[in-house]
Amino acid sequence: MQVHTLFTLAANTFIVASANSIVVIDAGMPNQAGRIVKRIRALGYAPRDVRLILITHGHIDHAGSAAALKRLTGAPIAMHTADIPLVATANLKVPPGRTPAIDAVGRLIAKFGFVVPLETFEPDICLEDGQSLKGFGANARVLHTPGHTAGSVTIGFDNGALFVGDALLNLIRVSFPLVWEDADAARASARKIRGLKPRAIYTGHGRAFDAQALDDFVVR
Ligand SMILES: [Zn+2]
Ligand SMILES: [Zn+2]
Repeated sequence: MQVHTLFTLAANTFIVASANSIVVIDAGMPNQAGRIVKRIRALGYAPRDVRLILITHGHIDHAGSAAALKRLTGAPIAMHTADIPLVATANLKVPPGRTPAIDAVGRLIAKFGFVVPLETFEPDICLEDGQSLKGFGANARVLHTPGHTAGSVTIGFDNGALFVGDALLNLIRVSFPLVWEDADAARASARKIRGLKPRAIYTGHGRAFDAQALDDFVVR
């Protein structure tokens, strides 16, 4: 299994290639689908090799190009039911900030809305906790890790690679998300992620990190 990371304007998109199939984890901001497909071709694959477009949660920096990527690849979009309302409307919804300062910035973004509108969509597949993705050529399963949003999921591969979306960030160091719908749930999800004893943690924002960095954060 090979992980290719592409920065799609605000967040990371991951092209995970194993044998003859690809899953894309998060689709980036709007207008990024062409870039993602270009990278897929550069890696020696065809757009039709994409078996699944996995959306870790419904925020525009992760779901913004999902509909366009589906058009270009023919692959179904999968996400958790609880975040469907977020992608059913083009209006940006920013959850409360983790600190008052972050909250103020979030309110500004929401008020002035300089983010381009989301292309709305309905997922083809609704992900559930514990669901296997083997049918899509990925030796992975879904873990429901709510808190940042109600429908946030982590994709855990059998080899210990974990794709956590915004459940944990690594901007300067490993941290909780900047904004969250449910702080207690986010803390519980961080413990759940640590309990899996991952080998490598791929976050939506920042560089991938290892189990040691995760331990340092959770213990702190
Ligand atoms: Zn997010
Ligand atoms: Zn994000």
